[in-house]
Amino acid sequence: MTYIIGLTGGIGSGKTTIANLFAEQGVPLVDADVVARQVVEKGSPLLEQIAVYFGQEILTEHGELNRAVLREKVFNNESEKNWLNQLLHPAIRAECLVQLQAQTAPYVLFVVPLLIENNLTALCDRVLVVDVSVETQLERASQRDNNKRQLIQQIINAQVSREARLKVADDVINNDGDLAQTESGLRQKVLELHQFYLTLSKKK
Ligand code: ATP
Repeated sequence: MTYIIGLTGGIGSGKTTIANLFAEQGVPLVDADVVARQVVEKGSPLLEQIAVYFGQEILTEHGELNRAVLREKVFNNESEKNWLNQLLHPAIRAECLVQLQAQTAPYVLFVVPLLIENNLTALCDRVLVVDVSVETQLERASQRDNNKRQLIQQIINAQVSREARLKVADDVINNDGDLAQTESGLRQKVLELHQFYLTLSKKK
């Protein structure tokens, strides 16, 4: 079975940036955010179940999930949120496993923003954390989407702490440096890890 590297990091830490550098080396990616959208695709059994429970208004006129409406329904409603999570989380986990196991490359990068929060570390052979300071997170995430720093701070507070993430890490890439100056350094670090993971994957 393919060796699985879980890639995680807080909001705005640079997971996508780092994942792309691995992809340049031909490493396949499984992205939990993409899977989370796939399991509730138009016409999927799960979306059907959600519409039966919350009402047809959670569907757009094209039969797709209307995320804004669903978000409103579970906002500040713990029991509705739990119902939804208990339906979605096992389905997302199962579909991630299917996609991970379908890989034929020596190893796969499993990109999961909430790897620790959602207990998905158990699926991984190794965990790689993209680490930055909270200040860097606030700066980059607020710049990217023109978001308020306060909103980013709330999201940071809802995620596990930097320390908790580093505790779980087998490998760490620090991404505090400005990309303009550190891109070659980052690429070098990724190349080193890539070689290391290729070696580890042979031993599995
Ligand atoms: P999220 O979980 O919020 O989607 P992410 O962890 O995938 O974020 P990226 O999207 O890779 O993070 O990076 C966040 C933003 O910061 C992007 O706009 C990206 O271009 C920028 N960025 C990433 N790394 C650096 C860096 N080293 N220097 C400058 N900008 C960076």
